[in-house]
Amino acid sequence: MIQALWFVVVLTVLVVTGIWLADHPGSVTVQWQGYRLDSSVALLLGAVAAVAVAAALIYRLWIVLEGLPSAGRRWRQGRRQRRGFEALTRGMVAVAAGDAEDAGRQGKRAEGLLEDPPLTLLLSAQAAQLAGDEQAAERFFKAMLERPGTEFLGLRGLLTQAIRRHDWDEALALARRAYRLRPKSDWVAANLLDLQVRAGQWLDAEITLAEAVKTGLVPPPQGDRRRAVLLHQQSQEAEAGGDGAKALKLARRAHDHGPDFVPAAVRLARLLVADGKGPKAAQVIEKTWGREPHPDLYDAYRMTRREEDGLTLARDTQRLAAANPDHPESHIALAEAALEARLWGEARSHLSAAAGAQPTARVCRLMARLEEDEHADGAAAREWLVRASAAAPDPAWVCQSCGNLAAEWTVLCGNCEDFDSFAWRTPPRVAHLPGPQEAGPQEAGPGDAGPGDAGPEDAEFGDARTAVLTHDEAGAR
Ligand SMILES: [Zn+2]
Repeated sequence: MIQALWFVVVLTVLVVTGIWLADHPGSVTVQWQGYRLDSSVALLLGAVAAVAVAAALIYRLWIVLEGLPSAGRRWRQGRRQRRGFEALTRGMVAVAAGDAEDAGRQGKRAEGLLEDPPLTLLLSAQAAQLAGDEQAAERFFKAMLERPGTEFLGLRGLLTQAIRRHDWDEALALARRAYRLRPKSDWVAANLLDLQVRAGQWLDAEITLAEAVKTGLVPPPQGDRRRAVLLHQQSQEAEAGGDGAKALKLARRAHDHGPDFVPAAVRLARLLVADGKGPKAAQVIEKTWGREPHPDLYDAYRMTRREEDGLTLARDTQRLAAANPDHPESHIALAEAALEARLWGEARSHLSAAAGAQPTARVCRLMARLEEDEHADGAAAREWLVRASAAAPDPAWVCQSCGNLAAEWTVLCGNCEDFDSFAWRTPPRVAHLPGPQEAGPQEAGPGDAGPGDAGPEDAEFGDARTAVLTHDEAGAR
């Protein structure tokens, strides 16, 4: 609108000037160096205007031409960057798809096109890893350590490599460095804790764990349980080092953090008994029995008492069982005490309460003992022992990560090396595992035993209560 108005104004001025010049004609004479030019005023003004317009146009053209090279440069740079990012994206997609060759090619392209090493270093490292060239990947990760922006990424890559080649010392050093950079990273804290545990640095691990609980990386209940485990290990170490007082103090803290952690309760009770504090030890066992009854607890409970007759034991066991009266483990403890006190009826009723519909191997063995002790009935006892060999498995320490079974609780699983992964559970019943001679029909020689006379044997380890049963279905034999 303003432009149109401006155009009208200019046009009006030009027309008025033209008319005025036509009405007032005049002449101009220029004399210079012996030349003479005669012209009208209108023509002269027209010529001046034409020269001015031509000069303005030339000036504009010059400005455009002068800007051309830098514009071209900018355009080329933009195009290069676009292609670089395109290569980077394709490289990342190739990494995700597991295409090592394409990832490597795109990584090199991106490296050449982009002037941003941090971005391309990561792709190059991942491409090298994908191609199985760990040394090249390590070089890229180490180059990333040099730049503050990519230091953590480099550390993460190197740490993963160290863990993969089981270089635990190197992994621990890298994890410590990564933890200093990012203490709130879930991944780093978990790895540092894991490596400290693996190295048996219980106190360091406890500090890392406390920090992780404080920053909310580990929920408090889980933190308490793990703390109990780490304190239990420290107590063990102190005892092995001959410092009984420190061992007792640590065991007490372990039990406070994890009152349902059976090994800590057993340890504390044992140390208290050694310190002449039997009644206090019994209280510890009773507290844990209320949360997690366990045969080891009952054994420890019996240690807390002075040698007394069977009837006193039966009475005391009733106090312990009262902490968890309906649990099968309470009935088994009461049955064992009743057997020692020769209270046959009581033993039988507790055993049948513990057995329920499906007596476990341990209950069957106790029934055999009852038949033997009460009636000296060898046939009935043998019948119970046969039933025991095919009975439902008793609870055992089962690794919650890999399913490994252990007779004793250990801080690391012997199979998958997971930390605190054992739980006292009934192992899944394995109905039938092929024996070596059944692995393949072509391997069964003429002298081999046929499958009919050699069923898989009952595998048993440790004491009877942690028997792992791999057997045919009940009644098959
Ligand atoms: Zn395991």
